[in-house]
Amino acid sequence: MRMVDVITKKRDGYALTKEEIDFFVNGYVESQIPDYQASALLMAIYFNGLDEEEIVNLTLAMANSGKIIDLSSIEGIKVDKHSTGGVGDKTTLIVAPIVASFGVRVAKMSGRGLGFTGGTIDKLESIPGFKTTIKESEFLEIVNKVGFSIIGQSENVVPADKKIYALRDVSGSVESLPLVASSVMSKKIASGADCILLDVKTGSGAFMKTLEESIKLAKTMVDIGTKIKKKTAALITNMDVPLGRAIGNSLEIIEVCKTLKGEGPIDLEEVSINLAANMLNLAGKGSIEECKVLAKKAILDGSAFKKLKEMVKSQHGKGECLEDYSIFKKAQAVYEVKSQVSGFISKMDAQKCGKASMILGAGRKTKDSEIDFSAGIILNKKYRDFVEEGETIATLYASDLKKCLDAEKVLKEAIIVTGEKSEPQKLVYGRVSSSGLELY
Ligand code: URA
Repeated sequence: MRMVDVITKKRDGYALTKEEIDFFVNGYVESQIPDYQASALLMAIYFNGLDEEEIVNLTLAMANSGKIIDLSSIEGIKVDKHSTGGVGDKTTLIVAPIVASFGVRVAKMSGRGLGFTGGTIDKLESIPGFKTTIKESEFLEIVNKVGFSIIGQSENVVPADKKIYALRDVSGSVESLPLVASSVMSKKIASGADCILLDVKTGSGAFMKTLEESIKLAKTMVDIGTKIKKKTAALITNMDVPLGRAIGNSLEIIEVCKTLKGEGPIDLEEVSINLAANMLNLAGKGSIEECKVLAKKAILDGSAFKKLKEMVKSQHGKGECLEDYSIFKKAQAVYEVKSQVSGFISKMDAQKCGKASMILGAGRKTKDSEIDFSAGIILNKKYRDFVEEGETIATLYASDLKKCLDAEKVLKEAIIVTGEKSEPQKLVYGRVSSSGLELY
């Protein structure tokens, strides 16, 4: 088989066979297929798509490119969760301790941030001492003892996704439904859980910008999960506006702690309660409404926060900083972005907020860039809030003032103040399960 024939077949709009997909995935992982041919195929897929059978074949080929984690030594039901990526999305760190407090186990491998989106692993590494790379035996032991553990994606699990995702990122093929679906689901298959909850983000700060595309992605991923006999559901949630008020690693950890203490922003709490309730429901803990009550209870009685502290200490992190936020490294420059007019915030473009945060040092420009854990943004005002002329809309944190001034320019494009209060936006648009789509 020749790679050029596989590329031209897809370029001309034909479906690829299982053998052709396996040939591409295995050949690329083994470096027999060069980047230029792999990116040509990815671009052909971007334009011509993949049918259902091709998506399943690509997902399985990627999942089988490395090790499948064996979670059989963990007692009870194991639920995994995956977000398609967003700005200010720290929900994994809120929902995992909530569900773990009810005995539902979460053995989670998370990613790093790339481009304008953040990653759970970077957030956790802002906690002094926290280790995201531990031996598999220690990982499983922590899941059994504490109820959840979060580690970085290990080298030998889904190596195909690691290589293909990095190539998509630099060749303009990230925002492709079949490629996102196979990337996410290959990792979920390899991570070995019994049930999977997907958080499909929709809006300006998401890879899928419209509700229609997001529903299609959610259905595609739920179908793959159901086909491989994993109980799978997806929530479609808002990413037009950043989630919560904090963007940036240690700022987001502090917001996680506040939310688990019942003092978090309402949008973040609402999305987290919905996600946690769906995970509990998949694990058989009751109806979604009953599980929402359970999730709220775990926040109110402090049991979820206690779980977070236990996990942080088990992974060698300084647990004290979850109570005393002054322990986190401080940013050298703090700068307030003021409103030039009075009015209501009618737009707060999540993608541009993410870009501003990256300029401040909270994200990576390339996959090898260093992150400044103390950098980021606190949104003093959010969508639909009233702001007076001269009042602070956002506070920026960085290592120097120049970064703050550069980020301010982007943030001013992201945030629009008008005379009229806009319509409220939904935080959770709907749910997709094996029984179909339910719109809220
Ligand atoms: N998250 C993933 O894991 N893969 C994608 O392609 C996009 C978001």
